Amino acid sequence: MIRVDLHSHSVFSDGALEPVELAQRIAVTGIRLWALTDHDTTDGLVQAAAASRATGVRWVTGVEISASWASRTLHVLGLNIDPEAPALRTGLARLREMREQRAATIGAKLAKHGWDTALLAARQRAGAGTITRTHFAEALVELGAVHNLQQAFDRYLGRGKPAHVQAEWLHLTSVIKIITAAGGSAVLAHPMRYDLTATWLRKLLSEFKLAGGHGIEVASGPTANDQLDLLADYAVKFELKASTGSDFHSPTHPWRKLGGTPELPKKLIPIWADWGLDV
Ligand code: AMP
Ligand code: MN
Ligand code: MN
Ligand code: MN
Repeated sequence: MIRVDLHSHSVFSDGALEPVELAQRIAVTGIRLWALTDHDTTDGLVQAAAASRATGVRWVTGVEISASWASRTLHVLGLNIDPEAPALRTGLARLREMREQRAATIGAKLAKHGWDTALLAARQRAGAGTITRTHFAEALVELGAVHNLQQAFDRYLGRGKPAHVQAEWLHLTSVIKIITAAGGSAVLAHPMRYDLTATWLRKLLSEFKLAGGHGIEVASGPTANDQLDLLADYAVKFELKASTGSDFHSPTHPWRKLGGTPELPKKLIPIWADWGLDV
């Protein structure tokens, strides 16, 4: 089990734990380096930094940014960023506005299907954090519309489903620029979760590298060996550094466990080499 986890969520987006609780669990799990990467916000980082200092676990700043590319939504991790960088702050603020607008539209669509309190419930669940589809999924479970989160995505919120809203986020190129200007490393999150054909995935990686992207998440949660090998080959081919992260959201999630990623293949250069860290 590798001792690095550079992808996790707190209550500042769609995670279940406060950054402090997350930091404590990280320490108990034996992870040596971690990052909090909430969706389109850096608001949890102050608390995560303080908690990590208290536990003595190495920690870098992070964020998971929503990006658009070829009519699709991609997620780009900004790791080791300066959260105060102006372009980053402006970009994230815009994305959160877009999320608010999208939430209103999702809410209207769900209301048409009889779930007229879903928006209010989702907002309440999001609290002061970024509002996400996870909050709508939780709201739909709470309202008894579906039995679990997966069903909420399958029936309402997923691509092509009645309450899906195609959002225009910032373009991939802008997202990479913003991260780079904030002194961070841009890492393409969970590359296998975009339903891309091999040809499209190679096209994406090629453009990602050309736009100044630094790395890809080779290990994302409990990654199967064939996927690990494929992404490792792509990391080499496109000269991208390798990252690893569980995409942890909640202790109740059955398979996205903190630190629950396989070891990175030895031939790869880890993204933390860029930060002068030897883990
Ligand atoms: P958003 O960025 O608001 O579109 O929400 C995306 C989030 O929804 C992801 O980060 C996941 O946490 C969650 N999500 C997406 N698909 C599923 C699914 N099938 N089951 C559970 N959660 C999902
Ligand atoms: Mn999420
Ligand atoms: Mn993601
Ligand atoms: Mn994530």
